[in-house]
Amino acid sequence: MNKFSYFMPTKMVYGQGVVREAGASLALGRKALIVTGKSSARLSGALDDVLAVLPGEYVIFDQVENNPSVHTVIKGGRMAKEEGCDYVLAIGGGSPLDAAKVMAVLAVNDTHPMDLYKMGWKTRALPIVAIPTTAGTGSEVTQYAVLTIDEEETKKGLGGPDLFPRVSYLDPKYTESLPMDVTIDTAVDALSHLVESYLAKRATTASDLVALQGIALWGTAIEALRQGKVDLETRDALLLASSLGGIAIAQTGTALVHALGYSLTYFDGLPHGRANAVTMRAYLDYTKKVAPERVETILELLGLGSTEAFGELMGDLFAAHIGTLKLSADTIEKYVTKAMLTNNIKNSLGEPAEAELTEIMEKSIL
Ligand code: NAP
Ligand code: ZN
Repeated sequence: MNKFSYFMPTKMVYGQGVVREAGASLALGRKALIVTGKSSARLSGALDDVLAVLPGEYVIFDQVENNPSVHTVIKGGRMAKEEGCDYVLAIGGGSPLDAAKVMAVLAVNDTHPMDLYKMGWKTRALPIVAIPTTAGTGSEVTQYAVLTIDEEETKKGLGGPDLFPRVSYLDPKYTESLPMDVTIDTAVDALSHLVESYLAKRATTASDLVALQGIALWGTAIEALRQGKVDLETRDALLLASSLGGIAIAQTGTALVHALGYSLTYFDGLPHGRANAVTMRAYLDYTKKVAPERVETILELLGLGSTEAFGELMGDLFAAHIGTLKLSADTIEKYVTKAMLTNNIKNSLGEPAEAELTEIMEKSIL
């Protein structure tokens, strides 16, 4: 067996009702900065549950937008500092969770977010509690935070061991209020984490165990997603699969699908998971040439006989959006050039060159 390390310091508390059951232990300090998006924390019922049991003081920052900006994390970090918060409690999809992680750093470091990318930070981030309301990013169990960087016209991930939330509370009921399109977008993000982790150069024996279990679990949701009828049992499977995806990419990182997806979100406005869907089938076809047995294993666990069947599934899930993405040759070249600058490409089996990434982009499903 190859050498590997495995680090996942987040305490994960999973199941219906876990937030209220946590009671006073939800608090990790005297005063919380509660970080949310505009409406989902309330809509999902998660904020009510938190406020019903949280002891001590709190202030709410509820202005996190999708794909959070540098400006937003600066505002939240300043609020935490001015209000004397000593921990951060994040509720929402990946956007509020990621923004909260950077705010937890900025609350105790006098640094501009752009400098965090270059120099890191000296003082450990405030402790973080994470409560996801989407089943997609796995941010509740990763050390990553992704921000939109306008100067570089892209999205970029930050990472650090103190960005792993101290505790995550996962209740599938919070995902019941998700509209079907967001359910599908986020589910496909979870799938892309599981698949990219299993096909990553940095995959380890331990990350494989997690990723494979997650892929099998995700497979149980396929028919419900196809029909657009997702009950609580399916949401349960998707939420756990998405956290397994987070645990897996915390060990391995992501690969070329995410690298190309960032441009599709930045320039074309595609939601993160849908941006990943664009290239996933072509990515599997490409990787099949260098690691056929790994791709076969994924397809078997999903109950799909071939990459064509995988492509059909993506086509069914995103039927309403087919034909909406117009990518010229120049645009593809720009996205490929940007992707080549990321570590994700070096982490992709086969280490694709520009020509191969171009081919993958040309086979976009949208
Ligand atoms: P999101 O951007 O957090 O949320 C998408 C939309 O869904 C928002 O409008 C949000 O509303 C709404 N929403 C969330 N939960 C809801 C609920 N329960 N009911 C109804 N509406 C709900 O989406 P996401 O896909 O979870 O996160 C994407 C971000 O995470 C991207 O920036 C991506 O790059 C990042 N990401 C991070 C990691 C990581 O490891 N850290 C991994 C992958 C992706 P509100 O605005 O009201 O909240
Ligand atoms: Zn993702």
